[in-house]
Amino acid sequence: MSTFDVQQVRADFPLLRQEVRGRPLVYLDSAATAQKPQAVIDAIVRFYQHDNANVHRGVHILSERATEAYEGARETVRGFLNARDAREIIFVRGTTEAINLVAQTYGRKHIGAGDEVLITQMEHHANIVPWRMLCEQTGATLKVIPVDDRGELVMDAVDALLTEKTRILAVTHVSNALGTVNPVKELTRRAHAKGIPVLVDGAQSVTHFPVDVQDLGCDFYAFSGHKTFGPTGIGVLYGRLERLEPMPPYQGGGDMILSVTMEKVTYNRVPHRFEAGTPNLEGAVGLAAAIRYLQGVGLSAIAEHDREMMAYATAALESVPGLRLIGTAREKAGVLSFTLEDIHPHDVGTILDREGICIRTGHHCAQPVMQHFKLPATARASLALYNTREDVDALVRGLHKVREVFG
Ligand code: PLP
Repeated sequence: MSTFDVQQVRADFPLLRQEVRGRPLVYLDSAATAQKPQAVIDAIVRFYQHDNANVHRGVHILSERATEAYEGARETVRGFLNARDAREIIFVRGTTEAINLVAQTYGRKHIGAGDEVLITQMEHHANIVPWRMLCEQTGATLKVIPVDDRGELVMDAVDALLTEKTRILAVTHVSNALGTVNPVKELTRRAHAKGIPVLVDGAQSVTHFPVDVQDLGCDFYAFSGHKTFGPTGIGVLYGRLERLEPMPPYQGGGDMILSVTMEKVTYNRVPHRFEAGTPNLEGAVGLAAAIRYLQGVGLSAIAEHDREMMAYATAALESVPGLRLIGTAREKAGVLSFTLEDIHPHDVGTILDREGICIRTGHHCAQPVMQHFKLPATARASLALYNTREDVDALVRGLHKVREVFG
């Protein structure tokens, strides 16, 4: 597709073609999970109809094909992130597992009593709890980069928080609760200047703009298949080879070993060392199809559509009396969090649902940043490449209805 045509994109997503509650579906919850294009559904069906077998050690043709599909998916992800080497791509269940893997392997090896782990106030619980657990296991301390009232990181605080005790900086690329795009390249530069590795949580970024891990310079980058228009149960941990090679294994089992006796286990090479057991083959195949789909549409065209839609939606929401946007960072992607007068966000979401509009309400698994804004919850509309101005107009009409009900 040379020019971006949102109607053509929508036609690729069968789920969007339906009415709910007697109205056309308006799906504004892609930050929670994204819908799947037909190409992804077809790739999974094709895999099961033609190629399904277990991977890596089979001598038969089907195992060969399944292995090719799985390792081919790894290469597709490598290209997507512009990693140097396919061995730097580890398949996991999702962003959550990717971060737990780093905390429990790299973290357990390198982080001990008296050390510090630095995260930010706007992290998803997936990038807080694994580090909290590690700190409890090792006696390390969790330090936090604060956010300001726009929902931007307080960059002036960063250098003092990167100390000689800091062993890792873990930061989200895009906040799922606020939409803030963080300056992860600059943060990486500052951390690396002090020899500190950086993990980036990319769960909310890879679908909104091109990501180049070599350009960012980060050590680890994590994302989830299901938010990337692929299947659930698959995700990616990118790690620089120099970081991954010396890391101890994560889970034990088949495929992650070279040899086993009752006395001694020799572990497999990277990336297989971190992929114990039969992997999620259909997940990898579906994720590769999703990535090829995004590449076909064009990541730069998607980023442009996103920017336009964010500007349109921000202005449209600001026109609703009593609406307060939570998170007004200068650079945002995909997410519009808000409150409406003192109406509980769950009530906002419930009334919108009656109009066929799907949004998310609650703390968005980011309670610490909610605490910064002194809010228990917000309503959150999130945008993807298939959303239109009509979707936003429907949301605004729905919000006027909410005000009438509570007026
Ligand atoms: N990080 C961020 C920023 C997220 O938005 C999410 C999910 O909402 C996660 C991590 C966790 O992703 P998953 O549940 O797919 O592991």
